[in-house]
Amino acid sequence: MTTWLPIPADSDFSIHNLPFGIIETSNGRITAGVPVGDYVIDLVLAADAGLFGARRPHVRLFEQPTLNSFIALGNDFARRIRRRLQLWLTNDKRPDDAEYLLLERAQVRPLMPLRIGDYTDFYSSIEHATNVGKMFRPDNPLLPNWRWLPVGYHGRSSSIVIDGTPIRRPHGQILPKGADTPIFSATQQLDFELEMAFVIGKESRLGQPIPIEQAEEHIFGLLLFNDWSARDIQRWEYVPLGPFLGKNFASSISPWIVTLDALKPFRTRGPVQKPKPLDYLRIRGWHHYDINLEVSIRPQNGPETVVCRTNTRYLYWSMAQQLAHHTVNGCNVRPGDLMASGTISGPQPDSFGSLLELAWGGQKPIPLADGSTRTFLLDGDTVTLRAYAQKGNIRVGFGQVSGTVLPGWVERGK
Ligand code: CA
Repeated sequence: MTTWLPIPADSDFSIHNLPFGIIETSNGRITAGVPVGDYVIDLVLAADAGLFGARRPHVRLFEQPTLNSFIALGNDFARRIRRRLQLWLTNDKRPDDAEYLLLERAQVRPLMPLRIGDYTDFYSSIEHATNVGKMFRPDNPLLPNWRWLPVGYHGRSSSIVIDGTPIRRPHGQILPKGADTPIFSATQQLDFELEMAFVIGKESRLGQPIPIEQAEEHIFGLLLFNDWSARDIQRWEYVPLGPFLGKNFASSISPWIVTLDALKPFRTRGPVQKPKPLDYLRIRGWHHYDINLEVSIRPQNGPETVVCRTNTRYLYWSMAQQLAHHTVNGCNVRPGDLMASGTISGPQPDSFGSLLELAWGGQKPIPLADGSTRTFLLDGDTVTLRAYAQKGNIRVGFGQVSGTVLPGWVERGK
């Protein structure tokens, strides 16, 4: 496929990608958009120009403030829209309406693309689960259920924010080392978690599990996901019911939803699963994805340092297995639900997806380019997650999600 549009070779937004998002244009109009190279295709204007067939219904669909109605129409519909855009972009010559339909990406503001319904966070990296287990429970790192089922918990969607939203350092109960009563304080152990999340496109019915072979039909696409975490709050509260206020103060997502279709060339074999999963979690073929990931930290007045490089292929449980397990009891899913992978760590120490692991619970401070070190995040630090897949000259990227840490509110009750 060649296009008349000049696209930088290292652009995340090649004509093979064509992810979906919601943007605010420079004159304050809200529209669905598809980034390509340094531009975004305005889907309302494209629909009005007749690019997708009937004008009115498509304009109405794409002028909504979220993509929920669009993704609920199913993956075949999204496939058709991407195909039309690809045909337009690979025209023999630059179409006359190109001037009108392409907005400069630097001139538009990506907005929250979804009205997120339910949010679930899994725990699907065996390296991450083992590393955290070693620190929290040295004698018993990986619990006996871990290799039998994709562990997860129900999170909270109200605090999921878009790329660029500042993150206020949370307060909470913390048990100081050696103490037997907790204090109330701003977290001293603020961390990021490098994750990917998938967006549910097709609903399922209450009481009817999604068979694993059909799981991917229910997935619209993927995003980058930073599950900000307060480790000291988490450590005191997590027994017996799991994560709560140490997690739900904020999670950040990237603005463009990359479709599973665009990621097809990057399917890969997953790790060998032993013991063999139960029948409902067994599936033929490749359902893991080869996506490169990185995390960087930029101090307030300093340069950026990449602190972690890893890959989604290290995940033990696939998205298909996560979704089959999530619904096996009859729990239903709806368009706009979000399911995150859990922190994605690889086998190497520089491929760990959180500061907790990279600095090994504070024992091995991470050096930054400005000469400072980190065990956990400081106020003013900006954390950025990036991801892309590449095969030959086919590149499909996610852009980035970043957030800057703000100081906590002044402590109350003093
Ligand atoms: Ca998490």
